[in-house]
Amino acid sequence: MNAPLKFLFLRNSLQYISIQEKISSFFLRTYKKHIQKYLSLKTGKLFFIFVLISFSTIAAFSQKETPLLHYAVSILEPAGHTLDVELHCSNWEHDTLHLKMPKWMPGYYQIIDYANSVENLMVKDDKRKSLPVEKINGNTWVISGVKNKSFIVKYTIRTEEQFVANSYVDRAHAYLIPENTFLYIEDHLNLPVSVSLLFNTEWNMIATGLDPVVGKPNEYTAADFDVLYDCPILIGNLQELPSFQVKGIEHQFIGYNMGDFDQILFMANLKKIVETAEGIIGDIPYKQYTFIGIGPGRGGIEHLNNTTLSFDGSGLNKPETMNKMMNFIAHEYFHHYNVKRIRPFELGPFDYDKANRTNLLWFSEGLTVYYEYLIVKRAGLADAATLFSFFDGNLDAFENDPGRFYQSLQQASYNTWSDGPFGTEGSEPGKSISYYDKGPLVGMLLDFEIRNATQNKYSFDAVMQMLYLKYYKQQHRGFTEAELQTACEQVAGISLASTFEYVYTTKEIDYTKYLAFAGLKIEKQDIESNEKAASQKFMITRLENPTPLQAAILKSWLGE
Ligand SMILES: [Zn+2]
Repeated sequence: MNAPLKFLFLRNSLQYISIQEKISSFFLRTYKKHIQKYLSLKTGKLFFIFVLISFSTIAAFSQKETPLLHYAVSILEPAGHTLDVELHCSNWEHDTLHLKMPKWMPGYYQIIDYANSVENLMVKDDKRKSLPVEKINGNTWVISGVKNKSFIVKYTIRTEEQFVANSYVDRAHAYLIPENTFLYIEDHLNLPVSVSLLFNTEWNMIATGLDPVVGKPNEYTAADFDVLYDCPILIGNLQELPSFQVKGIEHQFIGYNMGDFDQILFMANLKKIVETAEGIIGDIPYKQYTFIGIGPGRGGIEHLNNTTLSFDGSGLNKPETMNKMMNFIAHEYFHHYNVKRIRPFELGPFDYDKANRTNLLWFSEGLTVYYEYLIVKRAGLADAATLFSFFDGNLDAFENDPGRFYQSLQQASYNTWSDGPFGTEGSEPGKSISYYDKGPLVGMLLDFEIRNATQNKYSFDAVMQMLYLKYYKQQHRGFTEAELQTACEQVAGISLASTFEYVYTTKEIDYTKYLAFAGLKIEKQDIESNEKAASQKFMITRLENPTPLQAAILKSWLGE
């Protein structure tokens, strides 16, 4: 333990020196430029003094602003389901610092008590002297006496449950959720960090979206905590499937305990998914993308350049299992556009200390379900009847849910933190809905209305492109509810106020009107059910004699 610690301090000091050198040489260059300007202008001593003052002030400021943070993670006894973390911090300019464990992870909109898994937290300075630590609330530790010191915060993370939003370590692998592993420093989420991983030598691979440090195996950097928290880490005896490129960009799939399946077919299908999704937005914004299979289970979580997927390949030789898996992966993959980049105003920069509520999860999740359906159809992995059946499933779930009379999509988005991810928890479960069901239905209505209003010149794809370009690429921010409606109306060229009532209110949906725009209709059938006196079954079918516009809209919507 001692040797690596010393080494890390030395390394940190070296990094510090090299950063200072960079800063000095930058100012020297700037200074030289100013001197040349001064000599050529010959405007007197005043400017020279100004340059000197600016140089010393900015240099002093920069010197203060470079605390170094390095996390050393050791997983040397994985059978005990724990991992040890050391945060090495140097050049801290304040007397105290507040360390916090996040209360949630972006992508999973529920409060999780990650701080509960922190054990044995202690702090030592570079002379191995213990420093005072006080836990002031459920997820905050205050460390004192650290001004201008180098110090190490040590703690253990106990892992218990295998779940896509929890860290989990066992004999065979480690899955690290950064929000469940790395304490952050309050008010300093903008600091760059580095991470080194020490683990069982029998494990062969690391999968993560973090940037590797060249020449330093098992070491990574993140520009700030938002990047760190966006990159889960999977370590173990992992398997890498044959990668592919789309528009020259590498896409890899690395997984743990994946089972036997036709890897070539699977990756060929996955490539079609990526190509089709890219075709909707028209841009790939990352340098490299990693699909991370974390083993059998449920759920996946999206990130900017990676996604974690509960993955079991053993059933993929059955076409229906393969198709389900492709829907699931298309959903998680499309999220790198819709929610990570095309995002509600409230979802970034994140506050990791509380629920980040927004009225727009119906769009971020519901429209991602909508595009998941369209992507698998347009990629040639589902036929038209299968596409219709996806919506039939949402109709059955939503129209038979009494919660639809009580809760709007807007409210379901806001209340998901208490109602649960599918609207089934909370104090009044019968009075809430799932935006995973109503969201894609409203997406379909909006898409058909835009296509009809523009004589099939534009579709909802144009709305997604507009949001991506205007708010992500140009303004680097999320959009508000009003801006979303405006974007839809700009593409449609008409008011969509009455359609947006399906978002803001519980008004009954007029499916007949909207489905007719695409030459479709809805059939209802009353069925007996054990749990309820009666329920209805829904089926989307084609109109018998569509007009040329209806036929054209349907054809282009299906991607045929
Ligand atoms: Zn989702």
